Amino acid sequence: MIRIVDKSACCGCSACFNLCPQKCISMENDKMGFMYPSVDMEKCVGCGLCENICPSLKKGTIGENVRLITYAAQNPNDVIRQSSSSGGIFTSLAQYILSQNGVVFGAAFDRTFRKVQHVAVQTSQDLYRIQGSKYVQSNAGCSYRTVKEFLEQGRLVLFSGTLCQVAGLQAFLHKDYQNLYLIDVVCYGVPAPKVWDAYIDSLEKKYNGRVTKVSFRDKRNGWNDYVISVKFDNGKEYVNCRSDDPYMRGFLHDCYLRPACYQCEFKGLNRASDITLGDLWGIDHIAPKLNDDKGTSLVMISSERGKLLFEKVLSDMIFQMVKIKEVVKYNPAIEANIHTGQNNIAFEKDFGNKPITALLNQYCSKSVIKKLIQKIRTAMKHR
Ligand SMILES: Cc1cc2nc3c(=O)[nH]c(=O)nc-3n(C[C@H](O)[C@H](O)[C@H](O)COP(=O)(O)OP(=O)(O)OC[C@H]3O[C@@H](n4cnc5c(N)ncnc54)[C@H](O)[C@@H]3O)c2cc1C
Repeated sequence: MIRIVDKSACCGCSACFNLCPQKCISMENDKMGFMYPSVDMEKCVGCGLCENICPSLKKGTIGENVRLITYAAQNPNDVIRQSSSSGGIFTSLAQYILSQNGVVFGAAFDRTFRKVQHVAVQTSQDLYRIQGSKYVQSNAGCSYRTVKEFLEQGRLVLFSGTLCQVAGLQAFLHKDYQNLYLIDVVCYGVPAPKVWDAYIDSLEKKYNGRVTKVSFRDKRNGWNDYVISVKFDNGKEYVNCRSDDPYMRGFLHDCYLRPACYQCEFKGLNRASDITLGDLWGIDHIAPKLNDDKGTSLVMISSERGKLLFEKVLSDMIFQMVKIKEVVKYNPAIEANIHTGQNNIAFEKDFGNKPITALLNQYCSKSVIKKLIQKIRTAMKHR
């Protein structure tokens, strides 16, 4: 029977919840909104399945795929690239699967924009819901069960998410399906759902409206200098650069990542997925000719199945092969874990006791010098 004593031992993938034959596991929120399994002891028969399949407990048995090829790639459609975080490669792959009557799973906002959860998309009109990075942990919910249903109907399925969610799905399925494609996004770490909820609440109060759109990676100032933007139903809009926005600052200062992210077992060059997507940071050193500041994806292919899938869209892409050694120099999140400062522990203690913006400013304030440098950079850019 699964019992979480040390929070850093649970990535919240929900494999145990999806699998339990007695349906006696529920996923409960902690103070920060991170979900952890809770077992109803009245119903539990002690079969031990939950512990046996837990990808966090089965350390080292995942990520066996050997990386085959690495590309820098861009979707030639500028509208798609604009609404994607990096080069819009995810959308091409998803469109291919949909064109084959397949189903694509990914992270979407709910109607209030306060929660992020995994959903199934079956039409290209709905694809926008799972485009773009959401810097909040996505709730996998019952998605693994739904994936299995589609797979057993013989439909092609593309599941996308963080590597721990991919590992959770694999653990739940417990066998390989030829009609399943797995994509993970390079992941720095996932921020706390309740901090995001509180932040949206504070913005709605300030702007006196309901949120109608959020982009964590708005490229109006370019891909390198992306901004966060939030639209409201009264026509107002909040736009801020990542170094000034309190929520993004807190995220990038590691104030509220999931405890398990500091000791992530899933990172590395041999991934459990077929394809890994990320940003090609360091593009000026790795593939300078591709740098138009509209976004370029890093595409790591880790299986024959992933290679075959990527080949279906490759001829329509702008691409070049790149060396993985170079790529990891500029994108440490592929391999390395974030160092635990004490920021997250102190932040959690104070969370809920103060207004969210005051708390964010207290823990993640920007020095006067940094502010000045930022102002100069922005002024130079717009000259
Ligand atoms: C929390 C987080 C941290 C990241 N950190 C890095 C990093 O350090 N370095 C780096 O190179 N790239 C990072 N990325 C990935 C990067 O931002 C892009 O998602 C990736 O390059 C794919 O871009 P795209 O243009 O092809 O597709 P896009 O359309 O931008 O991406 C869509 C894909 O992102 C997935 N996704 C979005 N939000 C979530 C979420 N909350 N949980 C799970 N899956 C999600 C969707 O399911 C879909 O597969 C991160 C993404 C997230 C969500």
